[in-house]
Amino acid sequence: MMYYSTNGKAPRADLRKAVIKGLAEDRGLYMPEKIARLPGEFIRGMGSRSFVENAYAVADAFFGEDVPAPVLRRIVEETLAFDCPLREVEPGIYSLELFHGPTLAFKDVGARFMARLLRHFTAGEGDINVLVATSGDTGSAVANGFLGIEGIRVFVLYPKGKVSPIQECQFTTLGRNVTALEIDGVFDDCQALVKAAFMDEDLNRALRLTSANSINVARFLPQSFYYFWAYAQLQRLGLSGNVVCSVPSGNFGNICSALFGKRMGLPVRRFIAANNANSVFYEFLRTGSYRPRPSVQTIANAMDVGDPSNFARIWDLYGKDPDAIRADISGATYSDAEIAETVRECYERTGYLLDPHGACGYRALKEGLRPGETGFFCETAHPAKFKDTIERIIGAPVAIPPTLSAFMQGRKLSVPLPGDFPAFKEYLLSV
Ligand SMILES: *Cc1c(COP(=O)(O)O)cnc(C)c1O
Repeated sequence: MMYYSTNGKAPRADLRKAVIKGLAEDRGLYMPEKIARLPGEFIRGMGSRSFVENAYAVADAFFGEDVPAPVLRRIVEETLAFDCPLREVEPGIYSLELFHGPTLAFKDVGARFMARLLRHFTAGEGDINVLVATSGDTGSAVANGFLGIEGIRVFVLYPKGKVSPIQECQFTTLGRNVTALEIDGVFDDCQALVKAAFMDEDLNRALRLTSANSINVARFLPQSFYYFWAYAQLQRLGLSGNVVCSVPSGNFGNICSALFGKRMGLPVRRFIAANNANSVFYEFLRTGSYRPRPSVQTIANAMDVGDPSNFARIWDLYGKDPDAIRADISGATYSDAEIAETVRECYERTGYLLDPHGACGYRALKEGLRPGETGFFCETAHPAKFKDTIERIIGAPVAIPPTLSAFMQGRKLSVPLPGDFPAFKEYLLSV
């Protein structure tokens, strides 16, 4: 299958090129040329199949033309090495827990899938080097997703002293093919170093460089697996009519993959995009015009995005028609005070502990659900990842799950580097 750019000015790419390049030459995002519809019979039978079985059918629809079946099957199996269970929070409202992977947040699935697909496309060609700048969470998902994958080296650049200790330990303690570079600077400096490396002729001659950006089709499309699995679990409960799905959204990759799922025949009636105070999409739905603006800092910080990159995909998918978008998606936006109140209220009333991102999804669902509908929201991170914030809100200790405490006991292995490009270049050429 071929992929076109949302900006329409770059040549079409095959899957291999789209995965290795990430972004098209015209800075647009790649879109698959067709979205196959899964047979009704398959959809009706999802409840009797496993997470892997359902996900493989979805993966086959996107990647089956370009990846041999046994390879794709293995990639799906290795990616989904953990469950994404659906839990009832209160009658009619379910939490789809996307935080049972290695870094306890939903980006694990996309990162794991991409690592394996990249490996498939570059095997036998010599080492490929993934450069990723992080302000915290992306680095850990990518580092853990690529950990131990042969032929791929990962360099995670992070700003010294600017990521939380819980985040830092998730990518600085791994070793093996993952190197954490502690940059004396801020996140923007890390990002500038990565960009400069991709532009540098000497580096590109000496090393094969690639990024593992969240807009990569191999990171983004596999997230649709979640939505088929949520629906399968609702089917088992006999609740598959009038399903509504609420997604806490920042860059809009997660919800966009759900919208692709709907195109493939997933019977979710409508979606809610739940924002924190960064409400650019909410304002777009209200006014019909998209006005990006600088992000503001919130307690749901993985959603602090002022110009969501996947808006371009949603805009393209719905033929640039705001009314078509509004027919499928409504919006919500919450302040930090509202997020905190939601975490506290839900915990006290139901015993279910939300994280700040999931709290946006939960509240948007609770406020938006109509009689006769069943809703689920994505719980995108484990609350322990935001231990201090959550403890302050509920006034009680939050237990750290074993996966996280194992990271916290590991030894920090990062390489300190100054924030200037010559030093970074010299380092890369020396390893
Ligand atoms: C990345 C992230 C989000 C936002 O997902 P998008 O695909 O960027 O919309 C929400 N919650 C958590 C915990 C995240 O890490």
